[in-house]
Amino acid sequence: MNVTLTNTAKKLCIIGDPVTHSKSPLLQNAMCQALGLDYVYLCQPVKAERLGEFLAAAKELGYAGFNATMPFKELLIPCLDELDPLAAKLGAVNTVCIREGRLYGYNTDCPGYIAALRAAGFEPAGKRVLLLGAGGAAKAVAVGLGDAGAAQVTVANRTAAKAQAVAGLIPGQGRTAAWNAETLAAEAAGCDLIVNATSLGMAGQGEYDDLSFLERLPRTALVSDLIYHPAQTEFLRRASELGRATMNGLPLLMRQAILGLEKFAGVEVPPEKVVPILEPLLSQP
Ligand code: NAP
Repeated sequence: MNVTLTNTAKKLCIIGDPVTHSKSPLLQNAMCQALGLDYVYLCQPVKAERLGEFLAAAKELGYAGFNATMPFKELLIPCLDELDPLAAKLGAVNTVCIREGRLYGYNTDCPGYIAALRAAGFEPAGKRVLLLGAGGAAKAVAVGLGDAGAAQVTVANRTAAKAQAVAGLIPGQGRTAAWNAETLAAEAAGCDLIVNATSLGMAGQGEYDDLSFLERLPRTALVSDLIYHPAQTEFLRRASELGRATMNGLPLLMRQAILGLEKFAGVEVPPEKVVPILEPLLSQP
């Protein structure tokens, strides 16, 4: 897309390593243009060991803020002047605003996922969820579902101790299940929503050995994968073949970006105004 640059444009960026695959510049520049916000959003590769130098430079150069992806979501926490309570609970930030030289950290993945579910017509309150994975993204999903009133969130992960830690973030709602085909099949049979929050199925990562547990899902269950590259993982392809409704990672990507821009610019970003602009951009390869 073409970006109209003014000499007064406030600077934003995404930092990460790797980061050049990121769709955030595309989304944020399109939203700023559509809303008449005078910002420019860049892609900024940063090595983990040079985070301090980046932060000093961003303040000095007058950046208004930045988003963070791997490996910075946790690494940034001790560098911040203020941490939003939700980001503190998750131990992860994806959005940092710079105001008068001070760094304010937020997490928009968590509310972004719930907004994406609701936009797809799925209300999490009272629902039973099977959450696969226990990394940073799974934590955001678990806490979001817990806050939204899910009846039960069952976390299954290859490393059981991490599943326990994630379930422990939502006492009374979180529980764990073992990471094996038999247990996953039994758990799938009783859930309204199943979420793949592992990196299995992502381009260049591994694949599930056995997806037969999807056959046990109730007909009405929603199958959600946080991955958006590829747009249809094997997990979603199989679920779709079985006639279940599916949602890939693009709605989450879009919703966390909308909520992030609200933090940066301090304005309301109406989804009904920007989603029709973002969706066609995201459907491009
Ligand atoms: P992470 O913290 O590195 O967690 C990775 C998870 O995948 C862990 O639960 C890990 O299990 C599991 N895993 C990795 N390899 C596995 C294998 N061979 N067998 C079984 N489990 C395996 O990553 P993350 O930040 O949570 O991201 C997870 C996924 O969500 C990624 O694919 C990412 O692209 C996607 N994501 C999408 C969005 C979006 O905007 N749509 C946002 C955030 C993340 P162990 O704990 O046992 O290692």
